[in-house]
Amino acid sequence: MQTLSFTEFFPKALLVDFLRYALTTGIIYLIFWVLFFKKWQHRVIQKKPLQLAKMYTEFAFSLSTVFVFALIGTGIALAKSAGHTLIYDDFGERGWVWFFASIGLMIVLHDAYFYWTHRLMHHPLVFRHVHLVHHRSTNPSPWAAYAFHPLEAVVEAGIFPLLVFTIPLHGLALFVFLVYMIVRNVLGHLGIEFLPKNFLSNPLISWHTSTTHHDLHHKDFNHNYGLYFTWWDKWCKTEHPNYTETFEEVTTREKAQGNGIKTLLMLLLASQAVSAQSVAGLWQTYHDKSGQPLSMIRIQEKESGIEGRIEKIFLQAWEGEDPICEKCPGDFQGKKVIGMQFLWGFKKAGSTWNDGRILDPVSGEIYQSKLWLEKPKVLKVKGFWGPFYRTQTWQLEQDNQDNNPVTGTWKTIDDKSDKAKSLVKISEQNGVLSGQIIKIYLQAWEGEDPICIQCPAPKKDTKIVGMTIAWGFTKKEKQWENGKILDPGNGKTYLCSIWLENENTLKIRGYWGPFFRTQTWKRIKSE
Ligand SMILES: [Zn+2]
Ligand SMILES: [Zn+2]
Repeated sequence: MQTLSFTEFFPKALLVDFLRYALTTGIIYLIFWVLFFKKWQHRVIQKKPLQLAKMYTEFAFSLSTVFVFALIGTGIALAKSAGHTLIYDDFGERGWVWFFASIGLMIVLHDAYFYWTHRLMHHPLVFRHVHLVHHRSTNPSPWAAYAFHPLEAVVEAGIFPLLVFTIPLHGLALFVFLVYMIVRNVLGHLGIEFLPKNFLSNPLISWHTSTTHHDLHHKDFNHNYGLYFTWWDKWCKTEHPNYTETFEEVTTREKAQGNGIKTLLMLLLASQAVSAQSVAGLWQTYHDKSGQPLSMIRIQEKESGIEGRIEKIFLQAWEGEDPICEKCPGDFQGKKVIGMQFLWGFKKAGSTWNDGRILDPVSGEIYQSKLWLEKPKVLKVKGFWGPFYRTQTWQLEQDNQDNNPVTGTWKTIDDKSDKAKSLVKISEQNGVLSGQIIKIYLQAWEGEDPICIQCPAPKKDTKIVGMTIAWGFTKKEKQWENGKILDPGNGKTYLCSIWLENENTLKIRGYWGPFFRTQTWKRIKSE
């Protein structure tokens, strides 16, 4: 057999892999973002245009991946010519059934390989140095398909040696796999959801990932690590909680018409849908006729729906301070208006919150009402009174995010038993967070005021109540990262990141190699 030389084969491998990336991406980009953009415009997942400069960067990093893939490909070709791989050339050797089965097998194995290496890439120690390159694209374009740090490219290419040294594969099967791989990868970063709206409700196909699936990974980082299939994310509970909802929102949008005015209306409606995610925050209310500011309302999102309390009233001098509600019904009667929960029970339905009640502290009447975000910081509140209604416009004064720091007292809940374990007080000093145990919920047999027998020095044999068990977190975007958390139960310290899921829910994720566990802590109002 003729031996292959590196210098002869490598340039060919480079060219083939470059064409594989550039042609697939180019064709798909041209179809969706250029030639038929009008047809797909309403399906742009994040409703943002692609940025040219971003696409250049994605392209440049993809070229370095092409280089790494060509190197590994050349290595495999050399190994094959020296007879070290299980790649075979004669179809007759294994037949057609194996030919197709081997393609399916490669895809399933690659999906698992990708999921777990991807999880590893998200480990805080690796993420910043390696995988961040890929995540620079929070609104990815198809060109991001191979935008990896060279080290990540090596890990990505690692699937090939694993396959060719362990499974008998025909060269053509490998080629089909390579085509499938690049096409799925490009589609995952397309930025446009092209799948039909009933895709997720069809059990025969819904287990394939969609563009929305991976787009959410780029947008929010913490979920949807899978590549071809949704299996691993389902099994490991890492599927994005809003995956189905987002997919439905994108695929049920109405198509923009050629008519200019209508398009403008569509955009307004579209922005309403996007921002309909949270109404929590401090809102200023205005009189619907005079436009005078009336009050400040704090809206909170709870599991039972949303609630609002009056935080401030803009009173006229003659109205006195801190009024009480004289006309209010039932339990509200004679109570202070400030601090009163006067809005409750709203349930989210698509982009509106329906079936709520609003108490008017002036008349004492309770109205059925609904509300929705007209723009990100403008809330419309519609109160019904028989067949009549009035609509008020409220303006957002203070974003919920800034106003609800992670500091405060939290009830820790065991992720396995769901039982409350302790109270932890989180405080911040010079931009660094730490957490101290202030109470433990003990069983009778555990005694009182335990000490940590297994903790490392200097905490060894000191009391658990009062102990600092979390420290060193610094803020990065919406997360607090690179902290450490000590489990007094086993004395082990884990790398940890935390983030607010909503105002009253904190997520704590401890890492152990490529694995992690996530706990949910609940905010305690009074200490
Ligand atoms: Zn990622
Ligand atoms: Zn990606």
